[in-house]
Amino acid sequence: MADDIWTVRRILDWTRGYLERKGDEHPRLSAEWLISDACGLSRMEIYLNFDRPLSPDELARMHEGVERRAAGEPLQYVTGEMPFRHIVLRCEKGVLIPRPETEVLVDVALEALDAAGTDEPLVLEPCTGTGCIALSLAGERPGTHVVSTDLSPAAVALAMRNRDALSLGDAVDVLECDLVAGVDPELMGSFDLIVSNPPYIPSAVLAEQVPAEVKDFEPHLALDGGQDGLDLFRRILDLAPIALKSGGALVVELFEESLEQAAALVRAQGGWARVEVREDLTHRPRILLAVREG
Ligand code: GLN
Repeated sequence: MADDIWTVRRILDWTRGYLERKGDEHPRLSAEWLISDACGLSRMEIYLNFDRPLSPDELARMHEGVERRAAGEPLQYVTGEMPFRHIVLRCEKGVLIPRPETEVLVDVALEALDAAGTDEPLVLEPCTGTGCIALSLAGERPGTHVVSTDLSPAAVALAMRNRDALSLGDAVDVLECDLVAGVDPELMGSFDLIVSNPPYIPSAVLAEQVPAEVKDFEPHLALDGGQDGLDLFRRILDLAPIALKSGGALVVELFEESLEQAAALVRAQGGWARVEVREDLTHRPRILLAVREG
């Protein structure tokens, strides 16, 4: 084979080496995702098509992707997608990339929904971002209706596109507003569940400890939780007794060092029968589950 032909194997080896030299921590994985995206091959097909040459268009797309990744841009923004539980979501700069811990948040939310004992639960989801939580709940528990909100117009537009791509338009409403400001007041008091992944990184941690790949590319609106990381949580907690029906649940993802304080805020508010802290996949405290009395 002539040395000047870029085959799948040659581009894989070259990209992996190049991204490694540029400081990518997972250069093989990045190379595979970029080739999948540029050539329309699944990860498995890459290995079954090693000798296939890339077309000029595929090479150009690959080149652009490699340069963006080499500059530190998250892979999910470069390829434009992120698998999440049973679905694949569009991802775009300006909207937070879904994380594995949020897949665990959905597990806890499903547990709360199943305990609600109704076939048609009503869910409120502030700070929806890509829509990953709402779309998972509605997709995995048909009959569920979710009202999702976000302050960011980019997030609302993307969540709607993700929703429409999954044909979940009847199950998920997406509103551009601050928390519940745009939610029909008549729905207040009838929610079975509030679930949210609000911005929760303490401002100083975001400034000093968060990696550049996150800090320089992802929206601070979706990350910065204020001085102690609980600014948005406090506001959601204040709304919970008004929004939830009796026996309803609150399930919120938070910073690993905030869970004790968050649980104490819930207990101090009163009216809650149960408050629990759940861990993420790395065994860090991550999710608060609280159930209203009644
Ligand atoms: N888990 C995200 C991170 O660590 C933070 C998401 C958030 O603030 N809601 O980057």
